[in-house]
Amino acid sequence: MRARSPHIVLAALVALLALAGCTTGPPADTAPIGDRAVRVTTTTNFITDTVRRIGGDRVEVTGLMGPGVDPHLYRASAQDVRALRDADIVFYGGLGLEGKMADLLADLAQRQTTTAVTDGIPREALLPAPGGAPGQYDPHIWFDVTLWEQVSATIAAALSERDPQHAATYRRNLDAYRTELRALDTEVRTRIEAIPPGRRLLVTSHDAFAYFGRRYGIEVAAIQGISTAAEATTADVERVADLLASRAVPAVFVETSVPRQTIDALLAAAARRGQQARVGGELFTDAAGAPDTPEGSYAGMLRANAGRIADSLSATTATQGG
Ligand SMILES: [Zn+2]
Repeated sequence: MRARSPHIVLAALVALLALAGCTTGPPADTAPIGDRAVRVTTTTNFITDTVRRIGGDRVEVTGLMGPGVDPHLYRASAQDVRALRDADIVFYGGLGLEGKMADLLADLAQRQTTTAVTDGIPREALLPAPGGAPGQYDPHIWFDVTLWEQVSATIAAALSERDPQHAATYRRNLDAYRTELRALDTEVRTRIEAIPPGRRLLVTSHDAFAYFGRRYGIEVAAIQGISTAAEATTADVERVADLLASRAVPAVFVETSVPRQTIDALLAAAARRGQQARVGGELFTDAAGAPDTPEGSYAGMLRANAGRIADSLSATTATQGG
C-alpha cells in the first residue's frame, strides 16, 4: 500500500491539473485543432489562394483583401479585426507591405499565431527598399516565383506546427504546388525571353516589379516608389517620360490596384517629347484578379502579366490595349 501512494498522489495531481485546465481552458490559440478545419485569416488574395492550395480542405480561409485592393493603403475594418482575432493562424505579406496595418499586426502577434509569409526568405535574397533605411526591403517578392516557392514552404510549416496531426497532408499539398510553381517559373521566363532584347523595359505606375526584373531579365522603371502611399511628383513623371522618349518605349502598363492618372500624365508627357507610347494593358501587381477567373490565383495572375508584357512589348504596330 505504502509503495503505491506516490502514484496515487501523482494521479490526483494530474486529475487536479486537468480539471484546472478544463476550467480556465488553454488559450484558444494553442488548443489542439483536432479534426475541425483550421481557421486562417489572410491579407492579400494571392496569399489567400496559396494558403488554400497548401491547406486544402483542412483550412477555412477568410481573405481580407479582394481583387483591385491596394495593400499599401488598406486599413482594417472592425469586421476585419474580428476575423483576425478569431483565426487560429494569421498570414500576411510582411516587409512593410501592409503599411497601415503594422500596429494591428504587431498587437495580434502578442496574443496569437501570426506569420509573415516572407519570414523564411533569407535576407540576402531580398532587394533593399530604394531610399529606405538599412533593413528595409522591397515587399513585392511574389514576382519571383522561386521566392514564392519559399513562401509556400513557410505556409506549410506554419500550418503543420499549429495542426501537427495533419502535417502529412500539408507536406503532400506543398509538394504538388511546388511542381506547379517550377513549371510556372519556366513559363514566365520563356515569355519574357521572347521579347526582343532592346524592348525589354517594363514601365508601371509603382515600383512593384524589381524582383520580376531581376529573375526574368527585364529592366523596370516606375513613376512611384515601392509603396503607393507616397504620391508621384511632376519630377517623377518627367523623369520616366524622358526615359520613354530616349528608349522609344512603345507601351507602358496600368495596374489593377493603382489609379491610372499617373500613367495618363506620363503618356501626355511622353507625347510632348514626340514619343507616342500607349497603354500595353493592365497588370495585376499587388492583388490577383476576381475569384473564379484564371487571374484569380497566384499562378494565373503571374501568367496573365507575363503574357500581357510579352505581347505588348513585342508588338511592332501600336494597337490599343487596356
Ligand atoms: Zn506595391
